[in-house]
Amino acid sequence: MRDIIMAGNWKMNLDASAVEKFCNELLEFSHSVEEGVKMIIAPAYPFLAMGKLILSGTGVELAAQDVSFRSDGAFTGEVSNTMLASLDLKYCIIGHSERRQYHSETDRTVNARLKKLLEVGITPIVCLGETLEEREGNRTQEVVLSQLKGCFDGIGLHDIGKCIIAYEPVWAIGTGRTATPTQAQEVHALIRKWLEDQYDNQTSQELHILYGGSAKPENIRELLMQPDIDGGLIGGASIVLAQYSKMIQTACEVYQERKK
Ligand code: PEP
Repeated sequence: MRDIIMAGNWKMNLDASAVEKFCNELLEFSHSVEEGVKMIIAPAYPFLAMGKLILSGTGVELAAQDVSFRSDGAFTGEVSNTMLASLDLKYCIIGHSERRQYHSETDRTVNARLKKLLEVGITPIVCLGETLEEREGNRTQEVVLSQLKGCFDGIGLHDIGKCIIAYEPVWAIGTGRTATPTQAQEVHALIRKWLEDQYDNQTSQELHILYGGSAKPENIRELLMQPDIDGGLIGGASIVLAQYSKMIQTACEVYQERKK
């Protein structure tokens, strides 16, 4: 049975003192989290080391929000895979729709980033999802399949199992408009089927597929009850501890229900 992953994407929010406060409170909260639910938070680059230090030994993992597709060198402003690995980071988000929209990321550059992360043993959390226009044009399947093909180009059976996929319909990110559990489940099932076709049944059954897009305490239960939704990539609601912790508690309950 897959465990549930609840990853918080903090985007460009929270400064040093806010991150310190959040992490210390999360440290306290983490003692109450039962088996089966993994917490990951993704603060901005400057605060990864601090978060890691405060949360060490709690089971809460840190993720970066991006990585360069280049190796170390003269690339001002970039952060390399080896730098992230030197912090002993386990996860990194790549291909977020905001990176695609504002920083010209494409499936090709996501693929290059993914390979860089795998080189240093960091698990990529690969984001993909359709725009509103694509959904309304009945192109969701086609778009998601093409993103999968592009992002995982050249990734073999050995490496695919080291990845996490986050389905994030662009029209649901930060808009307050969540995909219905049925809409999300449909795409998650499509992704799982693609994994089975391209790789094998075991891979498709083991790989985590997270949902992201205006997930919050009020809707997370229904989303997590779907058979192919293995957790959330949560933006806005993850920077408010009361909301994030509530969602974690719900995830723990859902995990216990799944076990029955
Ligand atoms: C995200 O940024 O990955 C996200 C899902 O944001 P939000 O939860 O705010 O929609």
